Amino acid sequence: CGIVGVAGSIGERLGSALKKCLERLEYRGYDSAGIAVTGTGGITVRKGKGKINEVDARFNFTALDGLSGIGHTRWATHGKPSDENAHPHVDCTGEVAVVHNGIIANYRELKEQLMARGHRFISDTDTEVIAHLFEDYVKAGLPALVALRETIRRLKGSYAIALLYSHEPDKVFFARNVSPLVIGVGEGFNFLASDIPAFLNYTNRVITLHDGEYGYLTPSGIYVERNGEPVNVEDRVRVINW
Ligand code: GLU
Repeated sequence: CGIVGVAGSIGERLGSALKKCLERLEYRGYDSAGIAVTGTGGITVRKGKGKINEVDARFNFTALDGLSGIGHTRWATHGKPSDENAHPHVDCTGEVAVVHNGIIANYRELKEQLMARGHRFISDTDTEVIAHLFEDYVKAGLPALVALRETIRRLKGSYAIALLYSHEPDKVFFARNVSPLVIGVGEGFNFLASDIPAFLNYTNRVITLHDGEYGYLTPSGIYVERNGEPVNVEDRVRVINW
C-alpha cells in the first residue's frame, strides 16, 4: 500500500506524475489504486480495483491535471477490494478527497455518530470517516487546518493521510500517526509519500514526519504542526544520495 501527494507545477501532468510515483511504491503490495486532483473546477477522483496500469487503462489517470493531487495504492483491511472501496474517498459534498494507509480502530463508533448527523457513506472502509469528519468541521466554520487537527483528534489507530480540499486547491493536507510519511522538498512544488523512492525522480531533499504531526504542502511551502503548535522542519531536511 502507498500514498503520494503533490502540490505545484512539475512540468508534466499531475496525473501522469502521480501514476509514476505510485508505481515506485508497488513493492509495498496493493489490490486497488486511485488518484484525485484539484483545480479551479473542483476535485476529480479516478479509482478502482486492480493494478495501477489496469485502473489507468479504465480511467485514464495520465490525462488528469490540476494544482495539486493525491494518489493511493490500497491493501484492503476494512471492506473488500472493489471500485467503491478504493481510495480516494470523498465526503458528501465532493469538496474533500482523502487517501489513507493504516487502520482507524474506532471507525465504527465514528461512522455511527456521523450517520446520526446525516452523513451518507459510500464505502465499507474505515477511511471514509476521515472525509466526513473533516467535512463536518469545515461546515461548522473551522479553517481547514483546524478542521484537520480536530479530525485527527477523533481518530484512534494508525494513519498516513493525504487530503485535498476544493476551496484551497493548491494545498495537500497531511497527517501522520504510526504509518510512515515523508515530504519531498522541491522548487515550485512539494511531494508527499509513504516512502522516498516515490518522488526521487523529482527531488532528493527529504523531511521525515513524526507521529502526531500534520499540516499542508503548497507549491512553495511546507507547514507542519503538532498539538496546535508550529513545528520547524527546515533543519530536518536530508539530501538523499542513493
Ligand atoms: N484501512 C484502509 C482500507 O482498508 C487503508 C488500507 C491501506 O493501508 O491501504 O481501505
